[in-house]
Amino acid sequence: MSERKNIYLYYNNREELEHKLTHLINTAKKYDFTVVDHVMDANIIISVGSDGTFLQAVRKSGFRQDCLYVGVSTKDRLGMYCDFHIDDVTEMIEAMKLDKIEVRKYPVIQVNINQQGSFYCLNEFSIRSGIIKTFVMDVYIDDISFETFRGDGMLIATPTGSTAYNKSVNGAIVDPLLPCLQVSELASLNNNQYRTLGSSFILSGHRKLSLKVVQTGNDYPTMGMDNEALSIRHVEKIDIQLSDRIIKTVKLKDNSFWEKVKRIFL
Ligand code: NAP
Ligand code: MN
Repeated sequence: MSERKNIYLYYNNREELEHKLTHLINTAKKYDFTVVDHVMDANIIISVGSDGTFLQAVRKSGFRQDCLYVGVSTKDRLGMYCDFHIDDVTEMIEAMKLDKIEVRKYPVIQVNINQQGSFYCLNEFSIRSGIIKTFVMDVYIDDISFETFRGDGMLIATPTGSTAYNKSVNGAIVDPLLPCLQVSELASLNNNQYRTLGSSFILSGHRKLSLKVVQTGNDYPTMGMDNEALSIRHVEKIDIQLSDRIIKTVKLKDNSFWEKVKRIFL
C-alpha cells in the first residue's frame, strides 16, 4: 500500500474551501504525496464535503477498483463515509502513509436496465412512479416469480446504504461485512388483487432480483442511483445483483461500522 502516492481531490465549493484545501494539499506534499490534476492519475481519491460528496466522488471517478477512497467532512460532524474531518488533516495523512494500512471494503450493487449495460450504486437503487398513478412491477428472485408489486416503488440498498434512504423506510441496518442487498417497498398497495410481502427482505449476494415493469402506460419511472437520477423511457426489465466491484476505504481504529452507527443515530 506504500506505493499509493497520488492523490486526487474531489470537492464542490472551491471558494468556500480554498483555505482548508490549501492546508490539505500542503500537508499531503509534506508527507511525500503528489496531488494530481486528473483523476486517472490517482490511486487515492479524497472527497471533501459530506457523505453526498463521497457518493459523487465514487460515481464520477467510475467506481475505481485500483483506488483507495477517503471521505473528509467539512461539516460539524463526521459521516458514514466521511471518516475524517477537514480540521484533522494530519491524522488523515498519517493514516494513509502507514505501511500496514487496513482497508475496509464496501459492497456495490450492479443494475442493468433493459439488458443494456450496467450502472453501479454504493447506497441504493430506487425506482418509483414518475406520475401520480401507481406503478406495477412483477418481482422475480433468480428468475422465479415472487410477487407483483403495486404502489410507489421499490428501493434496493447495499449494506452501507442501509443507513440512508433504506432506514427512512424502516429497512434494517446491515453490517457491510455481509455482502448482500436489501429490498424495501415504497408504499405498496395491498388488497385482494395485489399482495406483497410487506416487509423488507435481504438477499444473498449470489442472488439476482429482477423487476419487470407491467406495461400499464406508466413506463417512465423515476430511478435513482445514490444521488443521481437516471432518465430512461420505456423501462421494461431491471436486473439487480451485487457487483464484483467493491469500494475500498481506509479503516481506522475506533471507527467500525457500528461505532459510526452509534455516533450518528444514538
Ligand atoms: P441529501 O438529500 O443531502 O441526503 C440525505 C441525507 O442522507 C444526508 O444527511 C446525507 O448525509 C445522508 N446520507 C447519505 N448517504 C448516507 C449513508 N450511507 N448513511 C447515512 N446517511 C447518509 O442527498 P445526498 O447527500 O446527495 O445523499 C444521497 C442519499 O440520500 C441517497 O443515496 C439516499 O440514500 C438518501 N435519500 C434519502 C431519502 C430519505 O431518507 N427519505 C430520500 C432521498 C434520498 P450528508 O449530509 O453528509 O450528505
Ligand atoms: Mn448531502
